Parts: sequence; C-alpha cells; structure tokens
Amino acid sequence: MDIHFLGGASEVGRLGMILKDGPTSLLLDYGILPRDPPIYPLPAPPVDAMFVSHAHLDHSGMIPWVTRRQDVDVVMTPPTADVADLLLADSLKIADAEGFDAPFDDSDLRTARRRFRTVDFRDNVPMGDLEVTAHPAGHIPGATMYEVNGRETVLFTGDLHTLTTDLVWGAKPIACDTLVIESTYAGRQHPERLKSELAFLRKIDQIIERGGIALVPSFAVGRTQDILLTLLKARHEVWLDGMGKKVNSIYVEHPEYVRSVKKLRAAMRRVKVVHSSQGRRLALQGEVIVTTSGMLDGGPVLRYIEHVREDPRSAILLTGYQVEGTNGRQLVEHGTIDLYGVTVDVKCEWQKFDFSAHAGHDDLVRFIEECDPQRVVLMHGENREILKDALEGREVLLPMEGQWYGI
Ligand SMILES: [Zn+2]
Repeated sequence: MDIHFLGGASEVGRLGMILKDGPTSLLLDYGILPRDPPIYPLPAPPVDAMFVSHAHLDHSGMIPWVTRRQDVDVVMTPPTADVADLLLADSLKIADAEGFDAPFDDSDLRTARRRFRTVDFRDNVPMGDLEVTAHPAGHIPGATMYEVNGRETVLFTGDLHTLTTDLVWGAKPIACDTLVIESTYAGRQHPERLKSELAFLRKIDQIIERGGIALVPSFAVGRTQDILLTLLKARHEVWLDGMGKKVNSIYVEHPEYVRSVKKLRAAMRRVKVVHSSQGRRLALQGEVIVTTSGMLDGGPVLRYIEHVREDPRSAILLTGYQVEGTNGRQLVEHGTIDLYGVTVDVKCEWQKFDFSAHAGHDDLVRFIEECDPQRVVLMHGENREILKDALEGREVLLPMEGQWYGI
C-alpha cells in the first residue's frame, strides 16, 4: 500500500491522506487550516471513496470541494454528517462576512449532502479488495478511527483521545500492521482531567463571590458540551450562546454516540439559552456565560468581552488551545484583543484551563504500544520527533506533505 499526505502531516490542520492499494484509492479526511482566510490542502486526486474521521473543519472542511469534482461517497458516522453539514454551511457564512472566496458554494454543499453515506461503529464497508471498519476514536461524539483491511491492516486514527468522559468513551487500541496516528500533543502531557475540572469550578466560585461574570469561550463542537457537563457539578446560573446550542441538539438526536446522554440532557435543561439581544442583556446579569468562538475570533463572545473586559471582578476562562494568529493567542501573549478592527486592552482577569480532547504524550505512547504495529506513521503534529524518540525499536515514519510513501 502507499500513502500520500495532501496536508496535515507535519502540521495541525488541513488533514488529507490518500491510501492506495493497487487500483483502489481512498481519501481519508480533507480539511482546512482555519485562518483568515483559511489555508487549503493540496488538490485531491480522483479516489474511489472518501472517509471522514470527524466533523471539525480541519478534517471535513473540504468535503464539498471533492464531491463537486468526483462522484464519490463520503463515509462517516451520523453525528459527524450532521455536525459537518452545520459547520460547512457556517464556513460559507464566515467567508461571505469576511470577504474571501470559499472553495465551494451552496450548491456544492447540497451536492455533498447527497453523497453522505453514514456508517455506525463496527460497520464494514467493502471497497474493491479492501474492507474498511469504523471504530470509536474518543475525541468528540461520532469521531471515528478507520481500520483498512487488505493484504495488511492499516489503522487511521483521525483525532484521538483515550480518556473516557461524560461526553465520549475513550478510544481502544486495535491490532494493526501500520498505525497512522495523530500526534498533536507529542511531548506534552495533560494535567489530570478531574483536577482541571475542580480548578475551573473553584475559579468560577471565586469570580461569582466577588460579583463578576465568568465568560467561558468554547468551541461549539465537543468543548461546549464538555463544559456544560462540568458545570452540571455546580449550581450556578449558566447561559449558553452561539452554535453550541445546535450541536447539543444534534448529539441528543444520536444518543448512542454520547456516553451519558442523560447527563447531556440534564446539562441542557439546566442552562438558559440566549436567543436574542434581550437574552444577551439578561445573560450579562447572570453568573456564567458559555459561548462561541473558542478562540475569540468572532461569534457572540466578542459582544460579551466588550462588557467584561474592564471589570476587575469578571474573568475570561479559556478552555481550548489558542492557535497562532487568533484573538485568543493575542490575549494570552499580549493581554489585548482585536475588537471589530480595534486593538483593545483586556483588563479583567483571564486564565487557561486544559479540557483537551486529544491524547497526551504518554496516552499516545501507550496506545501505540497496545496496537503493537510493525510501522507507525506520525501525522497531525508539529513535534513528531519527540514522539518518535519515545518509540525506540519501532519503525516510525514522519511523512511530509506532497510525497508518496510505501507502507
Ligand atoms: Zn478534532
């Protein structure tokens, strides 16, 4: 078999991998690197089918680009299909608002929808001489690892987490010959999840005691639900704004992909949902506001920051990785943000909390050892050498974008 990365091998974002076995070619993920404007992967060659690991746009953002040019099925789980649809439509709105050309249009998205073919975990999809099986990858509800069986077995992880939370079950290792695995957190460990949750809840108590508002910017997909489930452990007045609301509803429609849909429903019942500017005013009189975007690059969060940024009693609690070039990164590094084109100081407190949905360094090493492959292909990482060093005695490949490798 041969592999070829169109993007996302030596970097985090715009992942796309071709897996070729004789006459059969598969495209695994095809996403964007979220920037303003986004950066795209290399053009995808003709393939027999496309498999999408999960809905985050760095894995799914270019689906309509493919289905505009090729009559191929796009295989993924039902929650991935529904959330990807939502995010793809939203990416068109963002392109329009920001004034850049999107790589596809509304009619391409409609075409893409007709090619969606959903599979459940453990389903097998025959593809020429190959057979592809879907397995849970942890990370977010519906996230899938694809096991490709031909003369050899290849496991492609997409984004992976081995931790079981209220939202998802952790990924379990699968025996394989070649393991193509993400390495976002190579060289980095996560603090214990429970400790992060406790520190987060304690900080919120402090903020409320001093009369402030805890503003929690969160990614709509996965993180918002994690945060709401964590807040279920306390009894604060929580407001929810932004796209996370729709994602909640999608997950509740696919209960078999959520570890505790009962808790997710309870978390949703507990929050007050913002529907209008009147709702936003009420939310600012509450205690906790969970809203998009997670990196402060647009979305309702900016309107709330406008109100809290000079209030020493309030605080911004970041819950995700802040990519370079984003407003969130600017806050972390310089204490300022870009508010509608003007750089302003953020004088209220801000703090970062680790709720990562990716396996940490030791989790990755353990997972690889338990899959026990002959060959490990590290992708989706900027510090892959550190992980390679930890896998002494195994054949480890660090592919670059734009080149073919025999596996
Ligand atoms: Zn992801």
